[in-house]
Amino acid sequence: MANDDDDEVSAEMIVWPLERLARLIRAREHEDALNPAQWEALRYLDRANGFSNSPGALTQYLGATKGTISQTVMALERKGFITKAAREGEKRSVTLVLTPKGKSVLAKDPWKQLAGGIDDLGGKTRRRLAKGLKELLAGELKRGKLKSFGLCASCRFFREKGRSADSAGPHHCMLLNLPLSAADSQRICVEHEPG
Ligand code: SF4
Repeated sequence: MANDDDDEVSAEMIVWPLERLARLIRAREHEDALNPAQWEALRYLDRANGFSNSPGALTQYLGATKGTISQTVMALERKGFITKAAREGEKRSVTLVLTPKGKSVLAKDPWKQLAGGIDDLGGKTRRRLAKGLKELLAGELKRGKLKSFGLCASCRFFREKGRSADSAGPHHCMLLNLPLSAADSQRICVEHEPG
């Protein structure tokens, strides 16, 4: 139930810090020989599951043009942060894989530095912030008719312990009819649909 304190928080008081935080962090994304688009691609590839690490999925996730993504991928490859490989069993399909250098630079991700500040917030504030941001993001994605790219474990096709006897399990993807490991369940997916 809303109380008087809640009524004193205007939408502007939330939008402005969000905008300012994004600007401050974006400014730091020009360090380490990278730019904001390249950081976004590295973060995506670090979170994506094995069905979602293609140039096409990256293009959909970032909502950019094919040409822009192609430039970003070429730059990351040239700098040694990612490498291209043929998808197993599909010679014409390409996967983008982080190199050890790519994984190592992610430790310096400017957005990760914000995590320390978030840890300092109380548990109740963190829970409310997480819930509010999740709802805002879901609303924006729905309005733009964009793919959710959510966590596998929250997908309507995810069946917990659906492949418990399978060494590649224990979970199951009903859409792709494939086993999912515990690590897979915590990755994001191009085919994700909210449960
Ligand atoms: S369960 Fe959903 S999110 Fe997970 S792999 Fe299948 S389609 Fe992707």
